[in-house]
Amino acid sequence: MNAITKTDAIKTLTAHYIDGAFVESHGREVRDIIRPTDGRVIGQVTLGDEDDTRRAIAAAKRAFATYGKSKPEERAEILRRLHRAASARIDDLTAAMVDEYGGVVQFARPIVESAVNAFAAAEKALPEIQWTRSWDKAIVTMEPVGVSGLITAWNANALFMCLKFASAVGAGCTAVIKPSEMSSLQARVLVEALHEAKLPNGLLNIVTGLGTTVGAELVRNPDVAKISFTGSVAVGQSIMRDGAATMKRVTLELGGKSPTIVLDDADLDQAIPTALGMAFMNSGQACAAGTRLLVPSNQLDAAKRAIVNAMRAITVGDPADPKIAVGPMVSQKQYERVQSYIRKGIEEGAEVLVGGEGHPQGLEAGYFVKPTVFVNVKNDMTIAREEIFGPVLSVIAYDTEDDAVAIANDSRYGLHAAVLGTDLARARRVASRLRTGRVVINGMTDDPQAPWGGFKYSGVGREYGRYGIEAYLETRAILEG
Ligand code: NAD
Repeated sequence: MNAITKTDAIKTLTAHYIDGAFVESHGREVRDIIRPTDGRVIGQVTLGDEDDTRRAIAAAKRAFATYGKSKPEERAEILRRLHRAASARIDDLTAAMVDEYGGVVQFARPIVESAVNAFAAAEKALPEIQWTRSWDKAIVTMEPVGVSGLITAWNANALFMCLKFASAVGAGCTAVIKPSEMSSLQARVLVEALHEAKLPNGLLNIVTGLGTTVGAELVRNPDVAKISFTGSVAVGQSIMRDGAATMKRVTLELGGKSPTIVLDDADLDQAIPTALGMAFMNSGQACAAGTRLLVPSNQLDAAKRAIVNAMRAITVGDPADPKIAVGPMVSQKQYERVQSYIRKGIEEGAEVLVGGEGHPQGLEAGYFVKPTVFVNVKNDMTIAREEIFGPVLSVIAYDTEDDAVAIANDSRYGLHAAVLGTDLARARRVASRLRTGRVVINGMTDDPQAPWGGFKYSGVGREYGRYGIEAYLETRAILEG
C-alpha cells in the first residue's frame, strides 16, 4: 500500500448545520478525509461533540413545537422545495461520492438520483396516509413522533440522508442527522443544497461526528423521540439496547447476505450476468448485494463457464470512468476486511474461480480488491454466512427447488433476495417462500413506494413511501363519553 500523502488543495470543513445556519464546531477533533482511489488526503473535517449535538437537538425541539402541527399540504410544499434544491446539485453530489467514497460513477449517479427523488416520492406518498379515522365515539389521528435522530452509513450516504429526512418531513417531524464520519464531503454538498430550500429554522440540523459521540448523544438524549439508523448489526443492537432507556422508537436498516436463486429453467447467458450485476453493485459494498448465488447442481459446470465469461464485464479501476464496474473499497480497514474473508474462504476449502487475494495488477495505489468468485461453497462456511461488504461472491449448488429455498432462508439475515427463471408463475411461487423484506424477480429493480427493510438480523421497521412515513407517526385516539 502506498504511503498517504497530502495534496495541496485540501478541503477543510469546520461547521455543522444547526437552526438554519452553518455554525463552527464546538468539538475540536480533526479527521483526515482520504481518497480511496489513491490513499491521498483530500480534506479535513472537524468532528462535532456532545455539545454540538445537544445544540442541534434543542433547535429541532424548538422547531417541532410549530412544525409538528403543520398540515400535510404544507409538508408537501416543503418536500417540493427540497426536491428542487437537491436536484440542482446532482452532479456535485455524484462527484463527491466518487471522490470521497470511491463509488463507481455508473452506480453513484443513479444512487444520487434516487436520493433526490426521495423527496418527490415522499410527497407522492402523503395522500396515501389516512391521517384521521373516526367511528362511533372514537377519532384516531396520526401524530408525528417528534425530534428524530437520523444516523447513516457511508456506502450510499446521500441516499440514506435524503430518504430518512424526506420521511421525517412528510410525517411532521424535525431532524438531527448524523452522517457517516466517512461521508463528510458528500454531507456538506447536500446540506449546502438543502439550505437553498429555505426551510423553517431547526427543521433540519446536521452534525458531523463519530458514532460514539454524536450518535451516542442522539440515542441517549431524552428530547429525541426516534432513531432511524442505517449501518451494521452490532451498532443497530447497541442503539436498540441504549435507546430503551429513553424508550426510543427505532428503525434499523442493517446488513444482508442476500441469495440469488437461479432456477433450472433460467437462460444462463442472461441470468448469470444479471446475478453478477447484483453481486458486484456498488463494488459489493451494498447491503442488498446478492452475495450467495444458488445454482442447480446439474448445471454447475455450465454456470461456472458462464460466470468466467461474464466476469470479463466486471472491470475494476478508476471509479470516475463510466465503463468501470468495481471501484476501491472505502478504506484501508475495509480492504483488509475483504482480504481476510478471501483468505478464510480458501482456508475453509472453497475454490477461487475468479479473483483471489491481493490488489488487481496496476491498482496497488488504492484500496482496490480483485472481484472474486468462490465455487464449492457450502452454506455453513464463513464466506456464506457473514456479510463481507466487498466484491466477493459465493456460488452454492442446490438439488431441488425446496433445497434452494431452504439454503436461501438458512441465514441470520433477511434483507433482499432475487429469483431468476423463465416460468414466471414458478419464480413468483419461489419468491413468496423467501423470508426477506424484498424479493426481485428477473433483475434488480426498485420502487420508491415499495417498503424497504429486513426480516431477522437485517433490521426492524421499513423505509420508502408511506411505510417510511408511517415509521415516524404515532396513533392518538380521542374518545367522547
Ligand atoms: P456502522 O454501523 O459502523 O456505522 C453506521 C453509522 O452509525 C455511522 O454513522 C456511525 O458513525 C454510527 N455509529 C457508530 N457507532 C455508533 C453508536 N454507538 N451509536 C450511534 N451511532 C453509531 O456501519 P457502516 O460501516 O457505516 O456501514 C456498513 C453497514 O451498513 C453494513 O453492515 C451494511 O449492510 C449496512 N447497511 C444497511 C443498509 C440497509 O438499508 N439495510 C444500507 C446500507 C448499509
